[in-house]
Amino acid sequence: MKVLYTRDQIDQRISELAEEISRDYEGKDILAIGLLKGCTVFMSHLLVQIKGSVEIDFMTISSYKHGSRSENFKFIQDLDTEVAGRDVLIIEDIIDTGKTMAFTVKHLEARGAKSIEIATFVDKTERRSAETKKPKYIGFHYDEAPFIIGFGFDFGGRYRNLPEVYQMEEQDHKAAAKA
Ligand code: 5GP
Repeated sequence: MKVLYTRDQIDQRISELAEEISRDYEGKDILAIGLLKGCTVFMSHLLVQIKGSVEIDFMTISSYKHGSRSENFKFIQDLDTEVAGRDVLIIEDIIDTGKTMAFTVKHLEARGAKSIEIATFVDKTERRSAETKKPKYIGFHYDEAPFIIGFGFDFGGRYRNLPEVYQMEEQDHKAAAKA
């Protein structure tokens, strides 16, 4: 595994994002919506540095194949909070194809959010295929496709606890498959 973002780089970047968000939302009441489970580590580090009023809620969305080609999404866990009239900040770990985000934004628009912006820890653009709202707050932009783990990113449900972000290489996939 190769370190992609060190802890210092991560902390520095999250502080910058928090400052930007605090400035942009001054005097507003943010509804921060995290997409579980990937959002957890990034969201907690970001939120404690945002100044002002923030309410939080979570959604869990899962994708499933519909027939042989098309992909659909369903809610495993929906929000408790009323979205209508709120300034919503979606917090996501990574946007890859953009399909999850396109579904999420459409859903929150339909519920009458006053404004919707996206904060994503990583914006991975190489495989983007869905048309979705552009994230306003991006931790790191990554224009390659390889899989990353650590600092909230999992591989088969594990490794979210690693303190830095790693890029998985060919031999790591083979080792994980054998384990
Ligand atoms: P999208 O719908 O944009 O293709 O997928 C977003 C979801 O795919 C993310 O929330 C994340 O769970 C997963 N994902 C995409 N790329 C990676 C990656 O490099 N590492 C990990 N751990 N998850 C990824």
